[in-house]
Amino acid sequence: SSSKRVTLLGSTGSIGTQALDVIRANPGRFQVVALSAQSNADLLIQQAREFRPAVVVIGDERKYETVKAALAGQSTEVLTGSAALTEVAGRPDTDIVLTAMVGYSGLLPTVAAIRAGKDIALANKETLVVAGQLITRLVQEHGVGLYPVDSEHSAIFQCLVGEERNPIEKIILTASGGPFRGRTAEQLASVTKAQALKHPNWDMGAKITIDSASLMNKGLEVIEAKWLFGLNDDQIDVVVHPQSIIHSLVQFQDGSLKAQLGLPDMKLPIQYALGYPERLPSDFPRFSFLDYPNLTFEQPDRATFRNLPLAFEAMRQGGNAPCVLNAANEIAVAAFLRDEIGFLEMPNLVESCLTKVSYLAEPSLDDYVLTDQETRRVAHELVGRR
Ligand code: NDP
Ligand code: MG
Repeated sequence: SSSKRVTLLGSTGSIGTQALDVIRANPGRFQVVALSAQSNADLLIQQAREFRPAVVVIGDERKYETVKAALAGQSTEVLTGSAALTEVAGRPDTDIVLTAMVGYSGLLPTVAAIRAGKDIALANKETLVVAGQLITRLVQEHGVGLYPVDSEHSAIFQCLVGEERNPIEKIILTASGGPFRGRTAEQLASVTKAQALKHPNWDMGAKITIDSASLMNKGLEVIEAKWLFGLNDDQIDVVVHPQSIIHSLVQFQDGSLKAQLGLPDMKLPIQYALGYPERLPSDFPRFSFLDYPNLTFEQPDRATFRNLPLAFEAMRQGGNAPCVLNAANEIAVAAFLRDEIGFLEMPNLVESCLTKVSYLAEPSLDDYVLTDQETRRVAHELVGRR
């Protein structure tokens, strides 16, 4: 088969660099046509020299001249500025767009890619949290594929292959529980960002690592799953599984459960999303039950990790509530990473924003953009007032 042309947005991050590892390990399968970074010019330059894409985007305009000069010897176009990512995402000469940028910044480029008829390998879960209804409608209108990269959603997606005629009774998302599993609220009040940044099973970007510690990541994934798999709110369960071997499960109407298992390694779901419908061979380490004689399960502690019930509540409200939840959380995580607020103040900030920002039942794309801006303004004000 001929090679798939890949646009890789957020190529310098945790998912982005692992995606390039996957592409490198499958010579002739994929051709990188575009790369993007926000501020890591050095790595972007190095990647562009190796993969020779048609275009690169450096978000930070102050780095533009550096990247431009470094790539002067090759035929790679260099772009910068906030609109550049959306412009590149919507270009015709590509087959699949991997969205590996972090946070709300994924929304407009993903919309542009879908409108241009491109398949999406979705790592940027925030896009579906913010505007799941709009994105899934666009995906249907344009007949594009939407392939999850998130390991839990990839697990469910893999379990659903061949089950197209069979309704889902429910799904069970597994959660590692993060570094603070079992802690009390009193203990959590004083945890530091260094402690929160140490995830037991996964090596990821800072934002999702904090989200994993606070269980907001699982909350975002619940909303992501709702839209990816067309579920009602009461069809989604969460179970804590500290070993992160069972990546998630689907239950069908006969009661049968299907699960996908493997060592925690994002390269597998990345490769599955890029290679779909094919399973490409890999030399990823193989799982052995003998190394994991105890796979355990427990209830999430919803009273202590309030972000999880807050996310369920925002999902039930629908409209722009998940967009508010996401924006408030982005400000909360950034403030926590700057030591401006404590760990338990993150859910407080999210909850306050959900009550303060006006509710919209049927938001348009412009409404989502405005909701995001308004929530950030409110959240900044709340952080500043403390
Ligand atoms: P990282 O922080 O490691 O990387 C983020 C990437 O996006 C970098 O290339 C970064 O550029 C770029 N970026 C940062 N800010 C912006 C912006 N405002 N606009 C455009 N690009 C930007 O994140 P991860 O790779 O960990 O996560 C990426 C996405 O994948 C997230 O949505 C996350 O939830 C999801 N995900 C990640 C998993 C993981 O294992 N890491 C697992 C499942 C999902 P620069 O390097 O220059 O800052
Ligand atoms: Mg996940």
